[in-house]
This record gives sequence, structure tokens and C-alpha cells, in this order.
Amino acid sequence: MNLHEYQGKEMLASFGVAIQRGRVAQTAEEAVTAAKELTETTGTGWHVIKAQIHAGGRGKGGGVRLAKNLDEVKTIAGEIIGMQLITPQTPPAGKPVHQVLVAEDVYYPGETETSEFYVSVLLNRSTGRNMIMYSTEGGMDIETVAEETPHLIFTEEIDPAVGIQGFQARKVAFNLGLSGNAFKEMTKFITSLYTAYVESDSSLFEINPVLKTSDNRILAVDAKVTLDANALFRHKDLAALRDKREENPIEVEAGEVGLNYVDLDGNVGCMVNGAGLAMATMDLIKQAGGSPANFLDVGGTADAARVETAFRIILKDPAVEAILVNIFGGIVRCDRVAQGIVDAYKNMGDAINVPIIVRLQGTNADIAKELIDGSGLNVLSATAFQEAADKVQEAIA
Ligand code: GDP
Ligand code: MN
Repeated sequence: MNLHEYQGKEMLASFGVAIQRGRVAQTAEEAVTAAKELTETTGTGWHVIKAQIHAGGRGKGGGVRLAKNLDEVKTIAGEIIGMQLITPQTPPAGKPVHQVLVAEDVYYPGETETSEFYVSVLLNRSTGRNMIMYSTEGGMDIETVAEETPHLIFTEEIDPAVGIQGFQARKVAFNLGLSGNAFKEMTKFITSLYTAYVESDSSLFEINPVLKTSDNRILAVDAKVTLDANALFRHKDLAALRDKREENPIEVEAGEVGLNYVDLDGNVGCMVNGAGLAMATMDLIKQAGGSPANFLDVGGTADAARVETAFRIILKDPAVEAILVNIFGGIVRCDRVAQGIVDAYKNMGDAINVPIIVRLQGTNADIAKELIDGSGLNVLSATAFQEAADKVQEAIA
């Protein structure tokens, strides 16, 4: 689960990570109030207005702008709220902006002694350890840095059983070229950031940029936080931060009925039991000249009600031209699944407006095939993988 920048920063601050201070606002008027309040604590009259959407690259798309006075705060916030923000990380049509973060300007106009760094915390799956990845090249896409100047990216692996050690935090500060107070601030920053990562059960932190101000403070200016959805049950406060408006509506609905659904941009819907078989089925669709419209694992209980729910979810995507059902009947026998498909189909009537190809393999596969073939419905059966692929190809030709 992803957090908005303002939520991520508040969470980090609760673990003692130094952040650029700010307040969220839903309207231009609220933005002005927020700016006034901030000025009382920070003393600065300059603010940065930042669109809050679940995508990076906002600066490039015009979603991060500097306001030099309250009039500008009002105008700029008014322009950003309600805009459709297009960045390299949004869908081509962009994402609607519902709220902005009004933050203190920490770059102090005219000052040149600031530096931007990149810091992320993530799991290195090949070593099974947490890793701090960092670079002197902050404010840029890390992908670009990795391509053009890979020697400027450093990593520090942390043994989860021991936790972050003082020498490791000092090494990060040293490699970033810091000294004096900035060095001390960075070791504190890294240590509290790592603690926040572990304590919040996050799977990714990306802080880009981390800023060294001209008065040698180290601050998180941006915050991308991804929480591990499987650990949210023990973080009720963080789970409450979910913003469903930022998520794909079909995926939200599928999640509510307990289906494991991921929306993709192809033309063949698929319904499969088991994630591994789902991956293989998506390959099969590609091989047949199609492209998967979704990943859908219906899990172990493919009865009529569940099959119907799955069909309805798949058919919400207008790009779907055919549906491939690929189920291995082990504990759930194939004939029961076939009956489920036939019942769901009959129940849905005209709601099913694309051909359905069904491949059932496993216990009672032959009885299942007879059931499908004898149903008189627009359902094509297959037993072999290749046969299913051929029928998909025909259906979308
Ligand atoms: P992103 O484009 O979505 O990654 O959004 P960021 O939060 O990283 O902001 C984009 C850029 O805006 C940063 O890299 C900074 O260079 C700049 N920026 C952010 N905050 C301030 C600020 O307080 N003052 C100034 N002058 N620039 C800022
Ligand atoms: Mn950023």
C-alpha cells in the first residue's frame, strides 16, 4: 500500500526523521491558512505547493511549484487542485489532483550551499537483508543515475537480526561527502529512517531528494513510502491512511470480494487458480498473439458464485475481447468447476458478450469437458495448453 507524500512525511517524523515541514490542503483557501500557520513556526514566507498523487516525477509535470507570497499560494494551489497531472509515472491521461501539500521552502532563495541526495531503504531479496541505497545524485531519476553514472550509487546492507550499526550510518554520511554538523545530522537521519522502515513494516522508502540545507540540516524533502500490505493488520493507524481514489477501481472492488486481481492493458481476460498457473496462462495468451487484460487468481474455491463474481470483474474492463479460464482441478474437482461456469453463465445471460475458452485439467476433466460441450452455451472447451491457445487466437482474430 502506498502513502501520499504528506502521510509518509508525517509517519517518518513520528520516528524522529527530520522533514521539510508542511500541511495538507484540499482547497486554495485551506492552502493559504496552512501557509500562514507554517510561517508562524518556520519564519519563512516562501512555500512550495506540491500535488499529492500516488506517482513521482510531479515536478516535471508542473505539480511542484514555488510560491513567494500568500497571493501566489492561493493562485498556485487553486491551479494545482483539480488539475489532471501528467508525469512520467502516471497513466498517459494523468491523475486528478485532490489535495496539495503546502511546505516550507527549505532551499532558501539565493543560497547555493544546498545539496540534494538520494536515499532509499528496501529489501534485497537475493541476500535476505535490508539495504540502504544512496547517491550523491539526488533530485534525478535513480534509473538515469544507474544508467549514466552507476559508480555514484552506493549500497549498505543491514543484518535484520542486528539492526543498523553506528559505523554503517557514518559510512553513508562519509560517502555522501559530508563533514561537520551535516555529517552528524546525516547519521541521525539514516539511523531514524532505518528504524522507521523496520517499525512500520514498510517494503520501500524512497527519499529523493534528501536535502542538505545551507545551514547544514538534513531533511526529507520528498517521501515515497510503500507499506507491506500483509503487515497492515498490526498497523491500524497506517492502514487508515489508504486513499482508494488513487487505486484502480476494479482492483479495489476485486479486493473487497477477496479476489486477487491485477488490471493489465491487454485484450484477453483470464481466470485461473493459483498464481503460478496464472503466470503461465498469461504467457500462453501472449503466445497466441493476444495480450492479458488482467491477472486473476480465484484461489481454491471455484464455485458458481465465485466464478460469476470473477466474470463480472473481468468484464468491467471494456478492452476484453475473450476470456480464458484455465483451472487445475485438484481438491476442487473439474466437473464442479465446469458446473460453476455453466451456472454462472446461465445466471449472467447477456452480461457475457465475449467468447469464453475453458481449459480444465485434473480430477474428472473428461466429465467437465462433456458438461461444457453439452451446455449449448458460447463456451469453448480445451484440454491441452496448445488447444486453448489456438482457440484464444481464433476468438480474438
Ligand atoms: P517529484 O518530482 O514527484 O519527485 O517531487 P519532489 O518532492 O521530489 O519535488 C520535485 C523537486 O522540487 C525537488 O527535486 C526539488 O528540487 C524541488 N523542491 C522541492 N521542495 C522545494 C522547496 O522547498 N524549494 C525549492 N526551491 N524547490 C523545492
Ligand atoms: Mn522526488
